[in-house]
Amino acid sequence: MELNAVVSQRIEISPELLILRVVPDGWELPDFEAGQFGVLGLPESALRSAFADREPKTDSDKPIKRAYSIASSSKNKEYIEFYITLVRSGKLTPRLFALKPGNRILLGKKFTGMFTLDMIEGEPNILLIGTGTGLAPYMSMLRTHLVCGGDRKFGIIHGARHSWDLGYRSELITLKHMCSNVTYIPIISRPKEEVTPWGGLHGYVQDAWESSALEESWGEKPIPDNTHIFLCGGPAMIETLVSKLESVGFVEHTKKSPGNIHVERYW
Ligand SMILES: Cc1cc2nc3c(=O)[nH]c(=O)nc-3n(C[C@H](O)[C@H](O)[C@H](O)COP(=O)(O)OP(=O)(O)OC[C@H]3O[C@@H](n4cnc5c(N)ncnc54)[C@H](O)[C@@H]3O)c2cc1C
Repeated sequence: MELNAVVSQRIEISPELLILRVVPDGWELPDFEAGQFGVLGLPESALRSAFADREPKTDSDKPIKRAYSIASSSKNKEYIEFYITLVRSGKLTPRLFALKPGNRILLGKKFTGMFTLDMIEGEPNILLIGTGTGLAPYMSMLRTHLVCGGDRKFGIIHGARHSWDLGYRSELITLKHMCSNVTYIPIISRPKEEVTPWGGLHGYVQDAWESSALEESWGEKPIPDNTHIFLCGGPAMIETLVSKLESVGFVEHTKKSPGNIHVERYW
């Protein structure tokens, strides 16, 4: 298996959340659209993180490959960034979590996906809703397409268990303070486990959608006529929100028929 890229940096958000920066070794990063995903891979013989479930040792070179949304801007050619959660029982993530700067990795040479802003006509407001690492494609979109102070409003609703699991929080808080057209609404599901009192919303991202937080910040309710909504993460959140959004007139976008709900399912 050809390990054609190098880990240039790892930033631990928590023991189970990692920002991984990867640089191609001897080839150019291809062009991509913000919101697309790439493929990372390692051989079965690669070391697993001590935080993960144990597996019998093997010297097999069989590749393990998985898709990961790109979190860096498509304008940045220095490195490619991924935001990854540890699945303790998983095949690849325990091996990704054991990587150190300088280690080699497989990076697929093609980046693909339809979960992008480019195919949307006009300049509707954009609401980005995600749980956990479902924030990754939104970081790429914001880092690529946000016009700070522009007419197009961006809302980010990010759900996690604890405040310390809210990756990219300082960058998003900064954007919110610097850009009048950005709203950032973090929501946590386990407020009782916080070490200091949590003053924000608690519950699930579905609850944040139903709260008045976005309306208050935007000065208007997001409606199908002027807003496209992106959903990214696990299936339960996506199914619940799609049905809530459809009940107020939003329509899921498919290849065959355009709509204003865009969905990326991680599993
Ligand atoms: C288009 C696309 C983009 C993706 N982007 C990302 C990303 O940016 N960051 C990321 O962490 N994952 C992302 N994933 C999920 C990723 O591809 C892997 O499925 C995940 O990392 C688990 O791999 P594994 O080999 O460790 O687990 P496996 O052995 O493959 O086990 C899979 C199981 O892990 C669980 N799982 C998978 N993904 C997650 C997750 N993100 N959070 C919690 N549980 C999960 C599910 O129960 C799933 O059935 C994406 C998936 C797709 C299809």
